[in-house]
Amino acid sequence: MTVPSDIRGIRATDAPHPPHGGIDLDALLSARSRAIDASGIRRVFDLGATLENPINLSIGQPDFPVPEPIKRAAVAAIEGDHNGYTPTQGLAPLRQAIRRRLEDRAGWAADDPSIDVLVTSGTSGGLLLAAMALLEAGDEIVVPDPYFVMYPQLGPLTGGRVVTCSTYPDFRLTAERVEPLLGPRTKAVLLNSPSNPCGVVATETEVRDLVDLCRRRGVLLISDEIYDEFVFDDALEHGTCPTPARFEEDLLLIGGFGKTYACTGWRLGYAAGPKRLIAEMAKMQQYTFVCAPTPAQHGVLASFDVSMRDHVEAYARRRDLVLEKLSPHASVARPGGAFYAFVEVPRHLGMTGTAFVERAVAERVLTIPGAVFSERDTHFRLSFATAEDRLVEGLEILARLLRG
Ligand code: PMP
Repeated sequence: MTVPSDIRGIRATDAPHPPHGGIDLDALLSARSRAIDASGIRRVFDLGATLENPINLSIGQPDFPVPEPIKRAAVAAIEGDHNGYTPTQGLAPLRQAIRRRLEDRAGWAADDPSIDVLVTSGTSGGLLLAAMALLEAGDEIVVPDPYFVMYPQLGPLTGGRVVTCSTYPDFRLTAERVEPLLGPRTKAVLLNSPSNPCGVVATETEVRDLVDLCRRRGVLLISDEIYDEFVFDDALEHGTCPTPARFEEDLLLIGGFGKTYACTGWRLGYAAGPKRLIAEMAKMQQYTFVCAPTPAQHGVLASFDVSMRDHVEAYARRRDLVLEKLSPHASVARPGGAFYAFVEVPRHLGMTGTAFVERAVAERVLTIPGAVFSERDTHFRLSFATAEDRLVEGLEILARLLRG
């Protein structure tokens, strides 16, 4: 077989081809692809698959259905034959609606010509395009640890280097923690609030300090706000989730629809920020994702009139349950939003997060080891996006195990 020259250029090893011809994928696969290790999260799913009727506190998506008006708008789009491509940037009315939302939340004037919005294939699509637009070999991006599982992979995916900033034990990405990590090759700092896996919400002071630091050092702040609508009353400031976009327009705000409206499978997010950067990302979207899914774009056009307040209140009550049941036995950073809690395995148990998760699996409770989200293996993540009675059942088992 002839190896195309472009693939030959990134051959992972110089291993000879199998003696009798055929394809030796080990020799063909890129170092980029092989550098990505998906084993941590796969192990959890494998463990879960062996259980009958588990209490599943591992799921990273809401447990309510997509609100009716949003479903109906998507179905109407399909039935109305809106199934072709949209412009690469996204449907104009959707981009306009996002701009209006940003005006409400962050004070960015909806008609500001220096700002643009790109509708992306999931929040992940926006993050990848941003990293592709910014990073080349040796360039650095600072991300919090613990992190959303995609963040470290932005290194292998782009050739850049991901520098982790430990936020233990309170899980706050402060300017003080970030500053020593900034160097001549730092291009961006990535903030995620409310966060996955901790649910921690940055305060207005924290985001303002990060904005000042990034501005001073000429580094782009990227704000992943996928959980921005899932913020509990006690973490709100000025009635909204504190966002660095309130203090800076020269940043990249990445948002999504999947978690808010329980349509994670629709693959819909957006990126908003300086026109020049958005244009670069749009260029790459044109030759990769092409556009975000069309019926989904029509569907979420109906989301701007839908209130998720009842769901957010229900999640706040579940958050309270988590704290009530687990805080007496373990240290849990108070989640101000999203639907996760990151729980420390008490030292007296003398076990890693992974060992604790395996022990909980033996009792039919599924959570995720902190090591999947971190360089440390001292915690576990639980999701409270699950029916209250099952949640309570799971929490009681976890509390017993944490007591030891
Ligand atoms: N950012 C964070 C912090 C997340 O938790 C997730 C999903 N778990 C994403 C981005 C990706 O979301 P999407 O499904 O919209 O790509």
